[in-house]
Amino acid sequence: MLDPISDRPFVYSALPSRVVFGYGTLQQLTEEVDRIGASRALILCTPQQAGEAEAVASILGSKAAGVFSGAQMHVPIEVAREARHIAETVRADCAIAIGGGSTIGLGKAIALESSIPIIAIPTTYAGSEMTPIFGITEAGRKVTGRDVRVLPKTVIYDPALSRGLPLGMSMVSGINAIAHACEGLYARDGNPIMSIMAEEGIRNLSGGLRRLATNNSEEGARKDCLYGAWLCGAVLGHVGMALHHKLCHTLGGSFNLPHAETHTIVLPHALAYNNQAAPEAMRRIARALNTPSAPAGAYDLARELGAPVALKDLGMSASDVEKACDIALANPYWNPRPIERESLMELLVNAWVGKRPD
Ligand code: NAD
Repeated sequence: MLDPISDRPFVYSALPSRVVFGYGTLQQLTEEVDRIGASRALILCTPQQAGEAEAVASILGSKAAGVFSGAQMHVPIEVAREARHIAETVRADCAIAIGGGSTIGLGKAIALESSIPIIAIPTTYAGSEMTPIFGITEAGRKVTGRDVRVLPKTVIYDPALSRGLPLGMSMVSGINAIAHACEGLYARDGNPIMSIMAEEGIRNLSGGLRRLATNNSEEGARKDCLYGAWLCGAVLGHVGMALHHKLCHTLGGSFNLPHAETHTIVLPHALAYNNQAAPEAMRRIARALNTPSAPAGAYDLARELGAPVALKDLGMSASDVEKACDIALANPYWNPRPIERESLMELLVNAWVGKRPD
């Protein structure tokens, strides 16, 4: 069935990025470095992925100028400064980030100052590689911004690289990506192209994750998940997010809760909050999840995949629920349904206990 184009006027503005997708595409890295006119690549990774970074260095041979394996969650400014210094010292003319959102975020912090191009090789489903959004943490505060200089020039999506991602992380990382697409479907600046990508992203990721959960070695499922992650990441890069993302940012930043798990738990409740205000988006989310209801479907998906469903299980204390509500209310932002204290408190309590939305 065809979806009618909304009567609402819209603007579609495409972000320039090249995507190379498929099993084995990592082997095309040298050609991609040549293509952007670079010859001295600084390779970035976390300490846990030093092995992957070494593999990248050996593919590049003399075009690898160095490896920096100190990427950390939330891009602490000290780490960004150290990596920028190394990039200068080795005269890097591009950064290659292999890893998840933390490593790609470090590449963005380098590009923000030096304008060197980034080639991103994502190994999770977080989606940072498709966005011009950066975040750097200084004195305990994560400052985020948008700048097209930090958008990776080339993204290599090789599903083989997700084989090492533990199953539990695959599940929460995938739902994190689904959350980008859900909010993209009711974005204030949404448009029909992004809605197509969002729905396909949710469909591919939820289907792929379900199959991966039952058979972790199914290669087709990995491909579908990564394809879905690309689409969902593109949605995050192109249109504005709302309540769900703001709330997760507050919870992660103020209570040090893990990123992807927090997204997984909050999503059904953010959807329940916006359910009446965004009926068309909810219809498409439910259709893509293959369930009758978007909020309950998102909750059931997490359950089915063995992912956490309650903030209390992440170690958040009951007394922090009201604090989180205060912080979230202190910074007003757009959402399809206005943000009101009583309803927001209800959302947070439900997410804290892990209640299934009706
Ligand atoms: P992550 O990058 O922090 O990775 C978590 C851990 O998993 C790391 O130790 C990493 O090395 C390891 N890992 C990653 N892939 C692996 C693999 N295939 N095999 C084995 N280990 C692997 O986690 P993430 O969820 O990808 O990223 C979260 C961060 O990204 C957050 O700080 C978030 O704010 C940021 N983010 C930013 C954007 C943006 O647009 N700027 C978008 C999404 C997420």
